[in-house]
Amino acid sequence: MRSVSIFGATGSIGESTMDLLLRQGGAETYRFVALTGGRNLARLAEMARAVRPEIAVVADAGCLPELRERLAGTGIATAAGPQAVAEAADRPADWVMSAIVGAAGLVPGMRALAHGGTLALANKESLVTAGPLLLEQARRHGARILPVDSEHSAVFQALVGEDMATVERITITASGGAFRDWPAERLAAATVAEASTHPNWDMGQRITIDSASMFNKALEVIEAREFFDIAPDRIEVLIHPESVIHAIVGFCDGGMIAHLGAPDMRHAIGYALNWPDRAHLPVARLDLAAAGRLSFRAPDPVRYPALGLARAVMETRGLAGAAFNAAKEVALDAFIAGEVGFTDMARVVEAVLGELSGREGLGNPARDLDMVLDMDQQARRVARTAIDGRNWS
Ligand code: NAD
Ligand code: MG
Repeated sequence: MRSVSIFGATGSIGESTMDLLLRQGGAETYRFVALTGGRNLARLAEMARAVRPEIAVVADAGCLPELRERLAGTGIATAAGPQAVAEAADRPADWVMSAIVGAAGLVPGMRALAHGGTLALANKESLVTAGPLLLEQARRHGARILPVDSEHSAVFQALVGEDMATVERITITASGGAFRDWPAERLAAATVAEASTHPNWDMGQRITIDSASMFNKALEVIEAREFFDIAPDRIEVLIHPESVIHAIVGFCDGGMIAHLGAPDMRHAIGYALNWPDRAHLPVARLDLAAAGRLSFRAPDPVRYPALGLARAVMETRGLAGAAFNAAKEVALDAFIAGEVGFTDMARVVEAVLGELSGREGLGNPARDLDMVLDMDQQARRVARTAIDGRNWS
């Protein structure tokens, strides 16, 4: 029986993953090892009762008594706190879904890779902050990382049977997010509620806001650079409002292979779950005749400064990805809290990178996780200071 764990089970990707696992037989087909959640105890306990994992873990330490109470008499172990989430990853499982949001997903993912097996990686922040370390950890332990981000799953699928040496470029598409049709002058006054609705995809709030600002695409460009080991100038972003084509791989003979599908993350999750096979999945089938036309345009670098910042990060490499992601997380928190405006987020991140590039170490390769976590903390402090002093350019 295949064993599975889900980190971030109560989130958008976690729910979709559970949906597929239940459709494929649930506890009759899979042995559930660990389920983790952030704070949503009721949902975590409900999921645990349905599939009976060895352990259910909640990241918020204060939630432990209630989780215990909710799972009393079930024989399911319970634990709480970030340390307990990481320890849950020490329990071997054949297939592990990494779907915690943010840098908090990095340590559990690294520890899960130590058992070999497959890490289905939705947590793009792991590759952005510590790509080389994560890939090296997989190599050392004979583990496999399968991309779950829809664009990266699309590229991965287009590359089946192909030689990377023949790839000229990788194009990942972007819907353009909530504000794609807004005049640029309006963006500064965009509210959290307005930024939290996506025209095509139903996702967690943080990634939805990141889609509106294109920080999500910025993370994805870096993710592609790390995962496919391709030079940054061969990665391209294309605005494609219909979200039908998720990525295109261009080859040395001029041919291009595009991946199309309905905007439903269960496709990419299901592909990673059933790989190398394909299984029937409950996603809508596209009707291209009804869609009529697909449109594309190049992203405007002024409107989307996050994309330019990603280019700078790839140039510096080393610990710059960790700094970029951490600064972005703090800026996003500040936007959600009403402390900074929508367009200020990119300014804060730029100011943090500027400040840190004046110090030693931003371009140093990460030798270990501690270096990454140190840079993450440093960038969070610098971002916080910039926001409190409102001193970004
Ligand atoms: P979400 O906010 O809906 O869920 C996040 C999950 O992580 C929840 O279970 C939450 O409780 C948990 N969590 C949050 N903070 C935590 C912490 N500090 N420690 C431990 N657990 C914590 O997010 P999501 O939209 O499901 O996204 C998850 C990841 O997948 C992100 O990295 C995101 O970029 C990526 N992703 C999501 C989508 C999507 O369609 N939602 C698509 C592509 C990639
Ligand atoms: Mg994506």
